[in-house]
Amino acid sequence: SAAPVVPLVTLEGRVALITGAGSGLGRASAKRLATAGAFVGLLDLDADGLAETAEEIEAAGGRCATRTADVSDPESIRPAIEGLAEAAGRLDVVYANAGINGVWAPLADLEPDEWDQTLAVNLKGTFLTVKYALPWLKKRGGSVVVCASVNGTRVFSNTGATAYSCSKAGQLAFVKMVALELASHHIRVNAIIPGAIMTPIFNKTVERNIESEKPHVEYTDGRIPLTGGDPGDPRDVANAVLYLASDLSSHVTGAEIVVDGGESLLQ
Ligand code: NAD
Repeated sequence: SAAPVVPLVTLEGRVALITGAGSGLGRASAKRLATAGAFVGLLDLDADGLAETAEEIEAAGGRCATRTADVSDPESIRPAIEGLAEAAGRLDVVYANAGINGVWAPLADLEPDEWDQTLAVNLKGTFLTVKYALPWLKKRGGSVVVCASVNGTRVFSNTGATAYSCSKAGQLAFVKMVALELASHHIRVNAIIPGAIMTPIFNKTVERNIESEKPHVEYTDGRIPLTGGDPGDPRDVANAVLYLASDLSSHVTGAEIVVDGGESLLQ
């Protein structure tokens, strides 16, 4: 008979919380962590998206729970995180992934409330997610993974991405500060830096930015060394999230893993 398949990475017995789990990178990562044995708590604004993710996880034999919540609103995200953690009895991994492109526009056209919205979801949302998970993570240590972007580290030709880029650069500073602050609690804090990955956000037309209305292939063609132009697959990111979530990365904190097929090498 065949030898049992022993997974190289296991999250058996662990509880992971994922924001933005109703779509794209959050969904793919939730599925990946569940496949590795974690019980996954799924959070998103989008109830339908969450239900679809949960259905896919359960169909594959995984275990999960869902809560709708807005990561930018403390009154919404706090009870959602506490509810999931209390129901699961522990919390080991947090993947702060929820994000929006927001409005991409030249500064003169960008309205103050549009700036605020992008920073509120991407940066404040990361802060709130980690803050409210912290009491649970402190009980036995854990791993926080933050989803930033190559836009937070380099300037691409997508003029108008200023608010988005600032939110993503801010997340990287957050990761370093908090990694140091939480190290003594055995809580590791690391960033994923995805390049162009094929998810709904990538295909969303961004208001008032002519450049981004081009088909994606026009943007990435020739700009992703590993593929020649095809954007990455959400599973490429999910595997990096799994590494940072698991004990395989036991001595890694304050680090950044770029998952971009070499895209940023050309910048
Ligand atoms: P996506 O649009 O497919 O998924 C984002 C999810 O976040 C959605 O389900 C959405 O409902 C949820 N969300 C948005 N605002 C929320 C809020 N206030 N509260 C709770 N949930 C909220 O996009 P994606 O590509 O999966 O993006 C995930 C993360 O990856 C984002 O932080 C994004 O900036 C980052 N990223 C994506 C790419 C890419 O090319 N896809 C590249 C770099 C970084």
